Amino acid sequence: MTFDLDSRLRSIVGAGAKKLEDTRGFTTVEDLLDFLPRTYLDATRSEAFLDLPHGEDVVVVGTVREATTRQMRKRRGRMLVVTVGDDAGGTLSLTFFKPFGHQDRLVPGARVVCSGQISTYGHQLQLTHPDYAVLNDPSGKSSGGWLLGGLVPVYPATPKLTPIVHGDLLDLVLHALTELADPLPATVRMRHGLPGLLDAYHLVHRPQTEVDHRKGRWRLKFQEAFVIQAALARARLASDATPAKDRQPVEDGLLDALLSRLPFDLTSGQQTVLGELRSDLAQTIPMHRLLQGEVGSGKTVLALLAMLAVVDAGGQAALLAPTEVLAGQHYRAITTMLGPIAEGGMLGGMESGTRVALLTGSQSAAERRANLLAAASGEAGIVIGTHALIQDTVQFAELGLVVVDEQHRFGVEQRDALRAKAELTPHVLVMTATPIPRTVAMTVYGDMTTSTLRELPAGRAPITTHVVTGEKPGWIERTWIRVAEEARGGGQVYVVCPRIGEEDDPDLPQGDTIGPGGPIATPAGQGQDAVSDPAGGRGREDLETFDEEAAQSPGAPQLHGVHQVTRALRALPATQELRLQTLHGRMSGEEKDLVMRSFAAGDIDVLVATTVIEVGVDVPNATTMVVLDADRFGISQLHQLRGRVGRGGKPGLCLLITQGPDNDDPLAAGERLRQVASTTDGFELARLDLQARREGDVLGASQSGRRSGLRFLRLSRDEELIVAAHEAAWTTLEQDPDLRAHPALGRELDRIDAARAAFLERG
Ligand code: ADP
Ligand code: MG
Repeated sequence: MTFDLDSRLRSIVGAGAKKLEDTRGFTTVEDLLDFLPRTYLDATRSEAFLDLPHGEDVVVVGTVREATTRQMRKRRGRMLVVTVGDDAGGTLSLTFFKPFGHQDRLVPGARVVCSGQISTYGHQLQLTHPDYAVLNDPSGKSSGGWLLGGLVPVYPATPKLTPIVHGDLLDLVLHALTELADPLPATVRMRHGLPGLLDAYHLVHRPQTEVDHRKGRWRLKFQEAFVIQAALARARLASDATPAKDRQPVEDGLLDALLSRLPFDLTSGQQTVLGELRSDLAQTIPMHRLLQGEVGSGKTVLALLAMLAVVDAGGQAALLAPTEVLAGQHYRAITTMLGPIAEGGMLGGMESGTRVALLTGSQSAAERRANLLAAASGEAGIVIGTHALIQDTVQFAELGLVVVDEQHRFGVEQRDALRAKAELTPHVLVMTATPIPRTVAMTVYGDMTTSTLRELPAGRAPITTHVVTGEKPGWIERTWIRVAEEARGGGQVYVVCPRIGEEDDPDLPQGDTIGPGGPIATPAGQGQDAVSDPAGGRGREDLETFDEEAAQSPGAPQLHGVHQVTRALRALPATQELRLQTLHGRMSGEEKDLVMRSFAAGDIDVLVATTVIEVGVDVPNATTMVVLDADRFGISQLHQLRGRVGRGGKPGLCLLITQGPDNDDPLAAGERLRQVASTTDGFELARLDLQARREGDVLGASQSGRRSGLRFLRLSRDEELIVAAHEAAWTTLEQDPDLRAHPALGRELDRIDAARAAFLERG
């Protein structure tokens, strides 16, 4: 019988399979093989026992010095005490209350590997009833024969599955496998000096040397990166097979009209990207371009120019925004930028101009009907909207380009649904203001060509960032005085709170203690809806995500809510005269829109909000950003929030307020805030963020299942490997799109299960 990665463990290891399933959830050969040793011990050397961490599960190697049985004092029967020595003269006792079966094997001179929980008895370190294997057992009846190799692999222990039993079961599996289909083409393996798949598993689980297991691991990582890239390449090549309509440049069209209307010159970076967009759009191969650039680097105007290029060539463009607030804002910004260009056929409008339609969920039936009609008739060259835009009722006359703003808020299905509305594949442009480290871009957006805007338009005033901690209470007071000054000087202020809270929550004790010591807890789980994951902090699913665990754990810091803070500011002498407003996710789309509009119009001085304002909100007159409980937010999120200010000519100020010492892990939080304060370079921050976070967060894997994330790769460390795998995979697929010569790779791609596919679809 031959086995492969999908074979059930039960069919190979028999009864032991239940143990593997109960303790680790492993059911297939692959599950077991992919679970790599935590570390390796050199069986020829014994590390000093003195350093062993008390109370922890350990695996040690040593030599039996002495074995004695003696009568137990309180119980009947005899106990066995075996003294094992390390190379440094230290000793460890192995204690057995049932000596039977151990006595004959644990004899002086026996070299043993033991695993168990370290405790002390008097001054003596001991393991009680440890699991062990004798390396030089003359009887040969010992388990753990596999330990005789060079290095001893150590698997993380769990109760009921000791490292040695784990190793024994794994050994059965390794022996049962005679060969494994290898998804890596032989040419790729040769070029990169990679062992075959089965060899790699032997190298990581049964290494003779350090070099062996490194080689095995490298190969497994390479395969992981390669398969991801191959899946992206296959999907991309398949979609390229359905052509897009090429949108040839039109002289003196709407694009040119906008260029001459803009009150500024494009930066040279913008010009480069515009060139890339125009040449992509002129191809029949559908554009798949990711445009990343700092907040305020001028992506939106580029998207608009691209949309006009398509309108000029007879098509329509759709702009998808993640929220109603943003859709509304895009609509206003775009119609303002376009002016008469967007008033085609209207009195005073440009004769050859077009129209811009807005579709949101909160429109009246009549409004919606009019906009739907404009989209369906083609009268509107540009259609802007949220998810509502992609509902079935929306039809386009000729959709040629889909622009997705702030990609990380969108699922691929949503994009595909929109794409399906076009007869030909539309071109796709994705914009993100969250700078993405290269490895993440390759892994998550590996099917896209990337354009990057690195410079900000000239004349941008700098943003200064300060961390304000509760250790210096006077500072908090000064924060609010500063806010008031800013507002009186004509600037506008955002105050961001991690949660909404309830309107009838108890008041803050004293207005001037907003900030550390001030916040009030609501009953756990009530109305707390905006806390981000402190480690990740991207709030993927909703703009306001709520980390229930953090909020509910007793002793968790009490966080500022929008309602209390607003009331407190209304009571504070410094701020009570200011025009204050709240904005949060529990308001209707219409209400939010209204508030954003009056804030943009300058009718509000201070906007107290949740992270609903995180993405893309553009009010040039906003100069100050105060983030309460800033330690609750991740690096990227803080950077996004900060990007809301300093967008006009006036310098921006960002104050990150933290309760500091009360936080669960003040060091990490403090470090994060210092990093954010130290630079406004989003790419640098994205890199730091990646280092600080688990890969799953970065990739936004929604399932906690193993398959939804990366198994071996570390995006923060494996750049070189990912680049190599990317090139190898794309070359393979381009030469052989149907994988006729690489059936094993084809099967591996098909084998990627739903969870894994969902992960690739970048949630
Ligand atoms: P992003 O979408 O990248 O955050 P926007 O496109 O919203 O940036 O641009 C931010 C602001 O800068 C807008 O008010 C926009 O009109 C302006 N802007 C864009 N490009 C330039 C430029 N080349 N020179 C001056 N201002 C610009
Ligand atoms: Mg934008």
